[in-house]
Amino acid sequence: MKTWSEMEEIQPLASKIIKNSIRKGRISHAYLLQGERGTGKTDIALIIAKVLFCERLNGSETEPCHECRNCKRISSHNHPDVHWIEPDGMSIKKEQVEKLQKEFTYSGLESNQKVYIIKDADTLTVNASNRILKFLEEPSRQTTAIMLTENSQSILPTIRSRCQVIDLKPLNPLLFKAQLEENGLDAGTASLMSALTNNLHDAIEWNKGEWFAEARKLVVQLIEILSTSPDDVYIFIHSHLIPHFKDRNDQERGLDLILLAFKDILYYHLGNERDLVFFDSNHVLLEKAAMTFSQDRLMDILNAILSAKRKLKQNVQPTLVFEQLTLQMKR
Ligand SMILES: [Zn+2]
Repeated sequence: MKTWSEMEEIQPLASKIIKNSIRKGRISHAYLLQGERGTGKTDIALIIAKVLFCERLNGSETEPCHECRNCKRISSHNHPDVHWIEPDGMSIKKEQVEKLQKEFTYSGLESNQKVYIIKDADTLTVNASNRILKFLEEPSRQTTAIMLTENSQSILPTIRSRCQVIDLKPLNPLLFKAQLEENGLDAGTASLMSALTNNLHDAIEWNKGEWFAEARKLVVQLIEILSTSPDDVYIFIHSHLIPHFKDRNDQERGLDLILLAFKDILYYHLGNERDLVFFDSNHVLLEKAAMTFSQDRLMDILNAILSAKRKLKQNVQPTLVFEQLTLQMKR
């Protein structure tokens, strides 16, 4: 949960624009908040909803109290007139939007004010988008739509043009790293995490759990095996790597770690040792790996890892993705 004054530190321009419209009593009937993961989309959506329902907010004030019954229920996603829509599986389906619209034909449970917040709005199917469009074409003073997306290119232009589009800036990596260190991560882990995510909450959670430390160790072992006994690598990925990377999230994060490790080997070749994030500069394995992989091979491997990431997104069977990648790394 964030306040405007906290939001202003990370998103000064977006906060200013929205606060101005609140001050003038001209909150838009539809917002499209676009920005990478961790840039504050959900936090801003929560504050806007609170502004509309806070019991203690007067006149042209912009900061909701965050403590009244309404603010608290909004924070915990329990307010009856603030609806959340998220992808059901890979997409947001027409039926989900229809259900919402049906609820909206009744008057508000506690007032006539209603807010709907659509997470990952880029996953709306075409049919679902057209349903939403009907909503946006008949704006009601008392209905506010807030759409959140990391990928604004996939939003229908007809929807975009009916929303106030707010761009959220990527977080400053140095600031983010400092925040991680304030939260107890050591400098090396903080660098690695800031290369993997810009979501503070995710980074702290990953650091607490065992999955991440184990994944990091397995990637070190993978490089070691590829550098010393490449014929053993198939057994290794089947016995260790694939079983540890259980679901889609694990697999994506695992590929990101492998990518960072190979980028480091390339940086070592190029003498960019201050850019290392996976290894530290005097890591013995890093020297060994640099001798094993030429710069040309590293470029091929980096491309192969990026292509593996795309295949996962296209739902190619993960075991197959890791097997093909291993073949390319081993060559
Ligand atoms: Zn309040």
